Amino acid sequence: MSRTFSIIKPDATRRNITGAVNAMIEQAGLRIVAQKRIQMTKQQAEKFYEVHKERPFFNDLVSFMTSGPVVVQVLEGDDAVPRYRAVMGVTNPAEADEGTIRKQFAESIEANSVHGSDSDENAAIEIAHFFGDDDIVG
Ligand code: ATP
Ligand code: MG
Repeated sequence: MSRTFSIIKPDATRRNITGAVNAMIEQAGLRIVAQKRIQMTKQQAEKFYEVHKERPFFNDLVSFMTSGPVVVQVLEGDDAVPRYRAVMGVTNPAEADEGTIRKQFAESIEANSVHGSDSDENAAIEIAHFFGDDDIVG
């Protein structure tokens, strides 16, 4: 059993489809063991996406991630990181497989509805940004 960190992004909260996204997460065999709806600050978004700070889309990405509420989550299951990446689909929804969250719901390569950690190490770091041990109930 392992954990990953998820964000339901502002394009999805705006369209009131957080429940539809969560249904796909649960159908993929992942349990939502922590969850809260927050408004990210510019500072939080800049810190969270620090690895992309030299990329041309960085400022737009920070604006997007702070443009409305997000739902931050901890997901638990067997091979949680790759399992969630598989159900999310690839970054660009135009290239995402049928049956994935991004194929079904994403609006664009930026407004792509969900974030998921890309390694166990990053999952632990990202979870600790938003949740304490007492907030996670498996
Ligand atoms: P995430 O980290 O959000 O789970 P990812 O790992 O599939 O997504 P990354 O390469 O880490 O993709 O990019 C982080 C986010 O930056 C993407 O999810 C998307 O919102 C945005 N992004 C990535 N590439 C582009 C691009 N070429 N133009 C605009 N936005 C982009
Ligand atoms: Mg990423």
